[in-house]
Amino acid sequence: MSPAKKILLSGVKPTGRPHIGNYFGAMRQFVELQDKYEAYVCVVDYHALTTLQDAKELANFTYEMVLDFLAIGLDPAKVTLFKQSDVPEVTELAWIFNCITTVPYLERAHAYKDAVAKGREVNVGTFDYPLLMAADILIQDADVVPVGQDQKQHVEFARDTAEKFNRVFASVPSPVFKLPEPIILDAVKTIPGIDGEKMSKSYGNVIPLFATDAEIRRLTMGIVTDSGVGIPKNVFELHKLFKPEEELNKLYQSKVGKYQELKEMLAKDITEFIAPLRVRREALSKDRAAVLEILKTGGERARARAAEKMKIVREKIGVSIN
Ligand code: ADP
Repeated sequence: MSPAKKILLSGVKPTGRPHIGNYFGAMRQFVELQDKYEAYVCVVDYHALTTLQDAKELANFTYEMVLDFLAIGLDPAKVTLFKQSDVPEVTELAWIFNCITTVPYLERAHAYKDAVAKGREVNVGTFDYPLLMAADILIQDADVVPVGQDQKQHVEFARDTAEKFNRVFASVPSPVFKLPEPIILDAVKTIPGIDGEKMSKSYGNVIPLFATDAEIRRLTMGIVTDSGVGIPKNVFELHKLFKPEEELNKLYQSKVGKYQELKEMLAKDITEFIAPLRVRREALSKDRAAVLEILKTGGERARARAAEKMKIVREKIGVSIN
């Protein structure tokens, strides 16, 4: 018998359309790793709720994101594709984690600190975000979590939380939770947006993965470049995702200062890259019932595993009384 595959889990927030930062930083890896690992991929709708409080939009973005995952090549026969809220056990586990985590520890989270630094009045959900994510990961016994650089700290929080639970509830010699490892690809750690900052749905600086040709052109032409004459760094960084760097080095050297021309080339490369995925997405979008069925089946599978894990957790913490 071949050894059991290691478990992979990751998720994307349905707060907007996925962008090329999400794709190259994380989503594409899910597809590339779907044969090697037993994979669980979730659309984290409860995480989205921390910033998106509009029922129609949340439902819509969630559904569209499932289509996106299928269109980029996630195979539901290999991957359990589900939405987070279909596994309510994660919110139960997050509460248990709340009770073993201190406020100063969570105050170290970069995302929380950034929000405070920007003067936002942070809701409790945003503060608690890392523990809900820890619950997502740990409840499925994930070994690896493919993410972009911005999520590295959150995976470390999940590891710390697993260790803390195992220690507090004396689960040695057979620990309840595994310690997950992030998988972060060096080349695509942080993909810049059209303003040069990290591309993020929250910053309004994205090129959506499934943008129309017209949108791709408009957004690409709007990439911020320095006013000097040289190699436009932000254009080059994005172009690297679509063409080998060696080829680009030559091209950019031969077009020094010709920003518009280089941007047009980038727009063309993005358009050509996305065209076949768009065809697949359109075909899939014709059968909403089939897409929803995939989500339902995935949710049931993920929930069954979570329920098993929670039986052990409840016993360990003393809420199961026989
Ligand atoms: P966003 O910041 O756009 O809302 P999410 O929080 O939904 O993104 O992140 C989904 C996945 O995409 C995570 O693994 C995250 O690390 C990755 N990711 C997001 N933005 C980028 C980026 N600009 N470069 C690389 N990876 C990214």
